[in-house]
Amino acid sequence: MPNRRTILVTSALPYANGAPHIGHMVEYVQTDIWVRFQKLMGHDCLYVCASDTHGTPTMLKARQEGITPEELIARVGAEQARDFADFGVGFDNFHTTHSPESRELTEAVYLRLRERGYIRRESIRQAYDAEAQMFLPDRYVRGTCPRCGAKDQYGDACEVCGHTYTPAELIDPVSVLTGSAPVQRESEHLFFRLGAFEEMLREWTGSGRLQPAVSAKLAEWFNAGLKDWDISRDAPYFGFEIPGEPGKYFYVWLDAPIGYLASFLHLCRRRGLDFDRYWKPDSDAEVYHFIGKDIVYFHTLFWPAVLHAAGHRTPTAVYAHGFLTVNGQKMSKSRGTFIAARVWLDHLPAEFLRYYFASRLTPGIDDLDLNLDEFSAKINADIVGKLVNIASRCAGFITRGADGRLAERLPDPALFDEFVAAGARIGAAYDGRDYAAAIREIMLLTDRANLYIDRHKPWLIARDPARAREVQEVCTQGLNLFRVLVQYLKPVLPRLTAGAERFLGATATLWDDAASPLLGTRIEAYEPLATRVDPAAVLRLLAASSESLKPAGNGILPGAAAAPATPAGASALPRISIDEFGRLDLRVARIEAAERVEGADKLLRLTVDLGGERRNVFAGIRAAYDPEQLVGRLAVVVANLEPRKMRFGTSEGMVLAAGPGGEDVFLIAPDQGAAPGMQVK
Ligand SMILES: [Zn+2]
Repeated sequence: MPNRRTILVTSALPYANGAPHIGHMVEYVQTDIWVRFQKLMGHDCLYVCASDTHGTPTMLKARQEGITPEELIARVGAEQARDFADFGVGFDNFHTTHSPESRELTEAVYLRLRERGYIRRESIRQAYDAEAQMFLPDRYVRGTCPRCGAKDQYGDACEVCGHTYTPAELIDPVSVLTGSAPVQRESEHLFFRLGAFEEMLREWTGSGRLQPAVSAKLAEWFNAGLKDWDISRDAPYFGFEIPGEPGKYFYVWLDAPIGYLASFLHLCRRRGLDFDRYWKPDSDAEVYHFIGKDIVYFHTLFWPAVLHAAGHRTPTAVYAHGFLTVNGQKMSKSRGTFIAARVWLDHLPAEFLRYYFASRLTPGIDDLDLNLDEFSAKINADIVGKLVNIASRCAGFITRGADGRLAERLPDPALFDEFVAAGARIGAAYDGRDYAAAIREIMLLTDRANLYIDRHKPWLIARDPARAREVQEVCTQGLNLFRVLVQYLKPVLPRLTAGAERFLGATATLWDDAASPLLGTRIEAYEPLATRVDPAAVLRLLAASSESLKPAGNGILPGAAAAPATPAGASALPRISIDEFGRLDLRVARIEAAERVEGADKLLRLTVDLGGERRNVFAGIRAAYDPEQLVGRLAVVVANLEPRKMRFGTSEGMVLAAGPGGEDVFLIAPDQGAAPGMQVK
């Protein structure tokens, strides 16, 4: 094999306190396709995964269930491993960050950083829950926004006005754990001197290792200045205690990426591989991290700096991907589109989702949308109607008419050669993570294969017994074209293609193995390789996703605790007179433009038309709506609200919406016929 590369690929599951959902699967499917392709190219490619298990949420979830964190992560880890296996994700190793290997490496990395003077101490003040006897992460404090007065907001940012602050600035703050008022308490923390690595990081990030959109984001961070990084947390915490610092634990984000090393070390010890061969500074192995775009900061700044400081090599590249939306919106529990991986498996084939993801995945970091109507249409057209159809149209003429034996020659070798030649382009698309381009190319070929069969009509010529050989040859041509297509889809559809190989009686282990046609060999009887998507199964999937999300009574966790007790029926507010109501100038508005606000992850900037008058309005609806889907919609706006200066500009009104916040926000829309500027009363 010329140019055989040594490759290590990683991905990670963000938290161990839940089984994966189909949004998580974007990362594993993307990575798995890439790894399978590299293996088909004959490269030594290993894929390790680390389940990030540490942190406060794991500790509290376990406490709430009355089990130990170790028991919790063992249970969830087993669920995760099952779900991944059933989605055809072929890890070489799946491991947890709460492992002996992880502890060993995390301590070694930390001691090296300390030895080299990259750790400093600083006392910081932080919210402390005296009743629970623990320091509170920002999201565990809630209270009234100091800017706009919105009640029940997180300790780091207001979901209503988008203002960011520290928990100490909240009015009437309470701990979500006990409901008591937190106090400010001082504690000494350990900081990693990230700033010392600016030059190294500028060089590392500027050397083509990152996607253009990620590089642009990094330029912003560099301009803002690299801040030292707090790597310690006070007990009680679920993680590893810091050597020589009783009661202090490593922050989950220090040991999360070290989990990649640990998962790999675990594999090395099982298989007798040489760990240092991959991780020494001058290693010629390639290392790739596949990550969600929300954790770019950790993977492109902290992580390479920590690796470099600890005397390891840095990654060859970091590949970020976008998030999954369902039917054009963020996955939402209340809309039934928050689909657990297991619930998908209960209703629809995993490979159909793999194929759909592949058809949408590009090398960029754009979100990808799972539109369930398009999903059904695409699977029915591409997989069932086109791909599998080639085999089912040809198989019978060979098994019944030719005793299961393929012809000795291809009637159209030039067409076959064209299919083989396309392999270079399709391979390059896979290698560049442009799976959408690979699938487009494969589907064009699939159309041509069907066209070949349509043109030669084996079902017609089979009526003439004298033309039996011609029928056999036409179908041999069809099945060999099918075989090349199956080969190209192998990274995406491992199970379906394995079934196709059994039917064809020939297994291909390398990308080029289908380049010479099967001639004179026997095939097996054809069994359907895929069936159409049942619309009822899609409906059942959505129904099951709503049901599996009935409130679980886990009020202790942030987010769950966040949903305020919505007063059903009775209002908690005092009555107002009709005159008081009349002072509200509510107007119908058309959303003319909507965009994300740089630096405010909850806000969208809306340009609304109030019937001739244009206003700029900031709305805390980013978690629930993509800007693209809002343009052109009608909404209701409070038109006489005092304009409010914000960090990003002035908000000249308020868009009305219902719901507790976060992704569960629902815009209020006028019925058809309403026009911009109309008064609402
Ligand atoms: Zn606010």
